Amino acid sequence: MKISSNFDSGNIVVVNAENPKQIELQINKDNQSEFYQWFHFKLDSTPFVEHNIKIGDLAKSAYPEGWQGYQAVASYDRQEWFRVDSTFDGDNLNMSFTPEHKHTYFAYFTPYSYERHLDLLASAQVNDRCQLHHLGETLDGRDMSVLEIGEAEEGKKTIWIIGRQHPGESMAEWLIEGLLIRLFDADDGVARRLLDKAVIYVVPNMNPDGSVRGHLRTNAVGTNLNREWNAPSMDKSPEVFLVMEKMQQTGVDLFLDIHGDESIPYNFVAGAEGNPGYSERIKGLEDAFKSAFLTVSPEFQDEFGYDKDEPGKGNMTVATNAVGQLYDCLAYTLEMPFKDNALLPDPAYGWSAQRCKQLGEDLLVAVNAVVDDLR
Ligand SMILES: [Zn+2]
Repeated sequence: MKISSNFDSGNIVVVNAENPKQIELQINKDNQSEFYQWFHFKLDSTPFVEHNIKIGDLAKSAYPEGWQGYQAVASYDRQEWFRVDSTFDGDNLNMSFTPEHKHTYFAYFTPYSYERHLDLLASAQVNDRCQLHHLGETLDGRDMSVLEIGEAEEGKKTIWIIGRQHPGESMAEWLIEGLLIRLFDADDGVARRLLDKAVIYVVPNMNPDGSVRGHLRTNAVGTNLNREWNAPSMDKSPEVFLVMEKMQQTGVDLFLDIHGDESIPYNFVAGAEGNPGYSERIKGLEDAFKSAFLTVSPEFQDEFGYDKDEPGKGNMTVATNAVGQLYDCLAYTLEMPFKDNALLPDPAYGWSAQRCKQLGEDLLVAVNAVVDDLR
């Protein structure tokens, strides 16, 4: 029996793997940081033998409540990721699992690989309406890339959509993949109308270093990028610095920042109501956006989510607040679950890559509903 994680986004510490009945594992912290929650490893063992796998020391993980009611994902072929019965005792996630094949991959959520990320950028750039821009480099020397979709023309709106500031939230890039597929569909009326009205900038992965390193929440040097938007630097947060620099050139009329939430089993949005510049105009756009999203997607809801900020009390280091304030525009964080959407539970797969992609397609309907009124 062997447990390994020496691959893209791998993360596990083997404490004990002598006996299939007593496998003890832990999760590495993000480099230069205290955060840990993302895991991704391969079990190489005997099929049709029961394995008891314990991932320990989770009371001190980033979101201990995230393990409550959570089921790990696993895959034999790295395409289909199914849920594995998991229980949490307050400090350990326990899985009892009988593999059907020699290799089983386990992860916190369906991984979105760096190779798939490069494939996504490459397939986008061959579309006539898309340009791929290189913004600069991350601290590990990876490309920071943005896709510009649609032709710039006088009067068109400018929309920015970013994902995966928190690299362990791989669902964000799955959503963006679905959104791009729809946006590039020349027969799709929503996409065609939207691109007649707007130019859309998409950063599918804000944190490629953290993604490859198997981090939950930070970049190569332990920076939480979603606390850098007031004063990013090339030393600590080049990813944010480079994107904000590009935004200065383009302006922003709508900003969407895609995330996953460890604890809350719903899809929801969080706005910038705590901004000094929050206004009735922004509130009206929020209402129209949510109303269209609710109509088109039964996966979306507006009852469960984060507590709203008090007026003027928003944290201005957070992307949604900073961009919303700077450009006086509609700005939303969209959160998806690691667990499942409790409104439409699917015990076999939980919230899945496929459902993220569908939500990404549907999200464009909500964008389309507000595009005329963004300015
Ligand atoms: Zn996040």
